[in-house]
Amino acid sequence: MTLEIAKDPTASYKAKNVFSALVEIARCDPGLTTQEFDFSFEVHYQQGNNWRTVASANRLKAVVDSPMLTTIIGLHSDQIIPRPGSNTRIIEEGGLTAPKFTGDPGADIFVDVDDANDTHRLLPDDTHNFLVWEPLPLLLFHELSHVFHTFIAKDAPQLADPQLEQFEKEKQVRADDNAFRDALQLPREHPTDYVKVEYGMPTRGGLKFPNCTWSTYGNPWEHCKLCSIATAALGSPINRQIATFRTAKRNFQRLTLGSVPILAPMLDSYRLFGPKVARAVSQDEQLRSATVHYGVQPAVHLIRSVEGYLDAAADTGRAVAAVDAALAGYEAEVAGAVTATHLRAAADAALAGSRALAGQRSAAALDTAAGLFGHVVTSVRASGADPDGPAWVLAGICMFLRAAAQWSTGRPDAAAQLTAAIGAWLATVPLPPDALPTDGLRHELDALRERVFPESSNRAVFGQRLRAHWRAVDPSLDRLLEQAHFLERSVVCQGT
Ligand SMILES: [Zn+2]
Repeated sequence: MTLEIAKDPTASYKAKNVFSALVEIARCDPGLTTQEFDFSFEVHYQQGNNWRTVASANRLKAVVDSPMLTTIIGLHSDQIIPRPGSNTRIIEEGGLTAPKFTGDPGADIFVDVDDANDTHRLLPDDTHNFLVWEPLPLLLFHELSHVFHTFIAKDAPQLADPQLEQFEKEKQVRADDNAFRDALQLPREHPTDYVKVEYGMPTRGGLKFPNCTWSTYGNPWEHCKLCSIATAALGSPINRQIATFRTAKRNFQRLTLGSVPILAPMLDSYRLFGPKVARAVSQDEQLRSATVHYGVQPAVHLIRSVEGYLDAAADTGRAVAAVDAALAGYEAEVAGAVTATHLRAAADAALAGSRALAGQRSAAALDTAAGLFGHVVTSVRASGADPDGPAWVLAGICMFLRAAAQWSTGRPDAAAQLTAAIGAWLATVPLPPDALPTDGLRHELDALRERVFPESSNRAVFGQRLRAHWRAVDPSLDRLLEQAHFLERSVVCQGT
């Protein structure tokens, strides 16, 4: 147990980002855990049988098992590398491995955990014509490989000329990087050019990193990925509201389509743009209160409405009562702070944001997506995240805010209207772009019918979308959709 992650008491996200990257390197092996101490997290790794064939997981295991201590120090992009005599910011290196300065022999790994201030670190690809993204898991894997060759296997090239030695060392480690990239089906980086580094949008492969299956993983910090905007707005991670997000994620994460979690388009995007919004929210008091009133609280009570609707399983009376209780809960949370006029304006801004993200309006629509929602749109665009997931979430928040405005003016049908709208909104959930029909599809459709689409009209809408998405790749899809009751056929008359 000789790998540790340094703690920064003023920025706990740094250790979280490092651990999340280790989880990706171990490809979600649940045997990877940490134990917390005052100044560090000690990394433990009981490798699971299924992971013994995963090269990157074995590399991590070798570093953890080595008797030599390796410390990973996550740094903010602009931080100076904390080494005696250093005045280099980590953004210039991305990552750096060096022997420990004091104490027993060991290695320190320094890594930029903020992806060059979210501008994206890029390397030349193997053709030298394009630029590929180097996200934190790949950056950290590169440094672990240096530790492995230099300190553990001790097979790193040793040459009289230090410059030539560095070139040969980088070549050795880049070969490891590319083996990992091959396993992830990512474009290769250049095997020798370690000098050229740029920032911006990649010209090959996009901002894609195939996250391992987090749904079965017990990462102790995982929920915070989903909650960081809420945490920044509410100020405390142990809030009741945050528990709502966590429970919802737990309830829905087992639902898959083509073996991809149906929440993946939302979570993958969120991972890219969420930290940007969270940072802006934590620095701006006005934006913080707008986020609580028009973002976090509506999201919390929208989730409660959805859960009430789904629990009622097509019993409309019960569903409307649950949605009514969620609307009352929202009113109680924001009591006195917002009027129906505010709510209608916020709903309009959320809708404008949703449409701007879905590409249904010109950039001028951004002016209408004011305040919080304008921030979300800008952050999604700047991060390169897939906009479909966030567009759908903003449409849901618009729907909830409209209903809340009606409810606050005493409109008796507000809850019934929102109940009907929820079912229709769920049927437009973005389909994971990389999901393909698999053998388990029938089982997945059954689970979706039981858990998410109790009403046949919404099921039919969802079925038609699957058809449009997949018909070309799977001719037998129609029959499957029909058997699972996702296609409306002629109505069967039952004799009386
Ligand atoms: Zn290197």
